[in-house]
Amino acid sequence: MGDFVTNLVYNHLMTTVTRIAPSPTGNLHLGTVRTALYNVLFSKNKNGKFFFRLEDTDRERSKKEFEEEIIAGFKWLGIAWDTPEAIDHENGMVRQSTRNSRHQEIINLLLDKKIAYKCHATTDELEELRKSQRAAKQPEGYDNRGRNYSQEQISAFEAENRKYVVRLNIGLDRDIKWDDLVRGSMSINTKDLGGDPIIQKFNGQVLYNFAVVADDNDMKVTHVIRGEDHLTNTAKQIAICEACSFNIPEFGHLPLIFTKDKQKLSKRKHGDIAGVDKYKNEGYLPEALVNYLVATSYTDQVDSQREIYSLSEAFASFDHKGISKSPAIYDIQKLNWFNREYIAKLSAQEVLDACLKYLSFDLNSKFSQDQIALLIEAVRGNLDKFSDIDNEVNYFFERITIPENLQKFVDEGQDLLKNLVSNIKSDKYDFNNASALKEEINKIGEEMSLSGKKLFFPIRIALSSRSGGPDLGVIMNLLGKTETLARLDNSIK
Ligand code: GLU
Repeated sequence: MGDFVTNLVYNHLMTTVTRIAPSPTGNLHLGTVRTALYNVLFSKNKNGKFFFRLEDTDRERSKKEFEEEIIAGFKWLGIAWDTPEAIDHENGMVRQSTRNSRHQEIINLLLDKKIAYKCHATTDELEELRKSQRAAKQPEGYDNRGRNYSQEQISAFEAENRKYVVRLNIGLDRDIKWDDLVRGSMSINTKDLGGDPIIQKFNGQVLYNFAVVADDNDMKVTHVIRGEDHLTNTAKQIAICEACSFNIPEFGHLPLIFTKDKQKLSKRKHGDIAGVDKYKNEGYLPEALVNYLVATSYTDQVDSQREIYSLSEAFASFDHKGISKSPAIYDIQKLNWFNREYIAKLSAQEVLDACLKYLSFDLNSKFSQDQIALLIEAVRGNLDKFSDIDNEVNYFFERITIPENLQKFVDEGQDLLKNLVSNIKSDKYDFNNASALKEEINKIGEEMSLSGKKLFFPIRIALSSRSGGPDLGVIMNLLGKTETLARLDNSIK
């Protein structure tokens, strides 16, 4: 079954199965989500299955809170997984730590067949080895000494109850090759893998590369798509697959996500921006984040200009050839652009409901229902995310101070402001009608031969202390006659 062509044929006949296999040793990273998305798209495009496996075998670093956050993050993003049939699971999720006895069964088999062996080398002994390799300027790694233990040596180690690890014999100097879905033809020589890999530690814990192979096999995974930081793992995993006579899945390695200053996006270096929670908490739409993450490394193969698509819209035309090999660049402006596009599709009520979760001001205390609708409609286009809402409406609720850089517009517009005040005082305006108010402003503009910035800036700044925002008629309607007059009066010298 190790033969490449046999594998191709075999994979072709089987249902396409992909998976995401996060370790609960940290927050849900954007890169993990993006990997999951390409796996979903790849399998669903082929009417296949997408599974979820929690790789929680690292007992020290795995945490329940990370596990919960990862699952909640996927749910929020609308990334659902199928239920595997051939393997135990919890609500569809395979938990790696429950598979100890199966892992042990395979390891025993490999030991029986002498494909794996026990290595009793002590930590000191291996440290010595590394020191001599360093001194001789050779690459560091295990020298496969355990392959050659004699039966007497092994008996002696066992008699003294010496601890051992289990290593897999990956053969002599040979190239491990695969045709990568993203990167094309790949080849890594076994001598560059640091010696026979450990598959089980002194304490009995099975190691990542082995557990992945065993689980992918039992879950009938046909395609492994993951970050390119796993390239050498892939070579080891192919060797393990061969040793176990398992079907070798196809592999695709995605470029990692970098920041603009060319650093790998990480929680340690970049804090919250690397994790999903920040976006969830700040009121980004999950559909927008999903679309953004897919688009970071993917060009639609049918319409290269198409940028906005839902996950299910993307299934239909998904083609892994559209995945880029170049690093993905984290770009918050681009994410904000996507989010605005998705906010624009929502109904007024949906935007209002979403904003209410973030508002620290009580809209009902000041505005009628019609006014609230008017306000939300007027500001929704300025929101990058729903948590921006306070900043868009605070001047209706708080005293304003005109910033120094804008004061000159107010100073230059004194005649205009006085004119407006006298019109308002003479009760000419209907404050309940935002569009009529807007008309009145235009009329003053015509009378005084003012337009553009000269007309709108002094009034807008006097009323809201800023140079952008909703239509002036809307602002005056929402402030009401008394407050509008008070603010205009304040700005007149
Ligand atoms: N638990 C591994 C990780 O989170 C899975 C890698 C893989 O997809 O095989 O990096």
